[in-house]
Amino acid sequence: RVPWVDDNGNVQVNRGFRVQFNNAIGPYKGGLRFHPSVNLSIIKFLGFEQIFKNSLTGLPIGGGKGGSDFNPKGKSDNEIMRFCQSFMTELCRHIGPNLDVPAGDIGVGAREIGYLFGQYKRLRNSYDAGVLTGKGLAYGGSLARKEATGFGVIYFVNEMLNYHGQSFENKRVVISGSGNVAIYAAEKAIDYGAKVVAMCDSSGYIVDENGIDLSIVKQIKEVERNRIKEYIARKEGAQYFEGQKGIWTVKCDIALPCATQNDINLDDAKILVENGTTVIGEGANMPCTNEAVKYFLEKGLLVAPAKAANAGGVATSALEMTQNSMRLSWSFEEVDEKLQGIMVNICHNMVDAAERYGFKGNYVVGANIAGFEKVVDAMQAQGIV
Ligand code: NDP
Repeated sequence: RVPWVDDNGNVQVNRGFRVQFNNAIGPYKGGLRFHPSVNLSIIKFLGFEQIFKNSLTGLPIGGGKGGSDFNPKGKSDNEIMRFCQSFMTELCRHIGPNLDVPAGDIGVGAREIGYLFGQYKRLRNSYDAGVLTGKGLAYGGSLARKEATGFGVIYFVNEMLNYHGQSFENKRVVISGSGNVAIYAAEKAIDYGAKVVAMCDSSGYIVDENGIDLSIVKQIKEVERNRIKEYIARKEGAQYFEGQKGIWTVKCDIALPCATQNDINLDDAKILVENGTTVIGEGANMPCTNEAVKYFLEKGLLVAPAKAANAGGVATSALEMTQNSMRLSWSFEEVDEKLQGIMVNICHNMVDAAERYGFKGNYVVGANIAGFEKVVDAMQAQGIV
């Protein structure tokens, strides 16, 4: 129960969650999501996925997830701060640098992590930098953490493409979302020579046949915290369409769902295949329904599953924890290089696991097996506890 007082002096009460799923290979680790749709079921599926994703990174982190049905949209900075302080007043009993280390997710970025960290420090009377990740650079955050999930998605998909003699060069890319993961996936895809033609938020989508200008998207989303619709007033030739779903009708070679779960259902999948899409890279957690994934695999598309493709965020969080323990900061290039190595490694381990178990080319199964093996080994080694 998270009670807080809004700017009009009214008492508001939200529900908060933290699911600690598995700590066989390290402290529980996973983000916090603030979104009105949050409930225990969503946090549990995210926590379950997180166990295997964290294992895939090769780093010593267990699986957990948390959040609240609090809606940050339209709230003032002071309301956000009061909510975060109340949330942490409850959560602080259950977390710690060697116990459970939350991070950001939908609706939780550097601003929220800052308020959460401040309240933890105040309540515990101790500077435990490693209790949260995604911190600001001034107080223990890691360079490249902000970019890590999106960049990681592209490093991963690029490695998969290389396996099949392809690359991002001159590919048309559609990316759902315009939040943290979507923006930095777009940035790296453009770096690699792709053209990003469509992005969205929960209200609608933009199409820019000349290639989306990310500096405008960053200004709208990261600075102004405004709607994606604003883009068309600032870029000639761009179009806006109401409703986020239509984004999957935009023709593309590579689709990167980076918004939220169940974004691509079987109907969307059929449209994508019909329009000639050959690669799906899951930036969000479980953005394709099971039916959609099955259909893509039947039709021979390359599918980069979320627990592998978006593992770069949590991997870099673990690198942030390492820097906090060592009390030093690595350069952007150093972190980015480690991130690239981790994503390439995940790709190889996943391909190897798929082949060992007779599922050659099925990266969805490969990622599940590769993530599971290490967790089960650790659990068995530790006995009945
Ligand atoms: P943000 O809050 O930064 O962005 C979410 C984006 O998705 C926004 O543009 C949002 O639009 C859009 N969106 C569209 N429909 C919905 C919906 N129904 N519910 C929520 N958002 C919606 O979140 P992130 O970019 O951090 O996260 C995106 C996805 O990536 C999530 O699935 C998350 O779990 C996953 N992920 C994130 C990691 C990270 O490091 N941040 C790490 C690994 C996975 P609007 O602004 O209109 O709400």
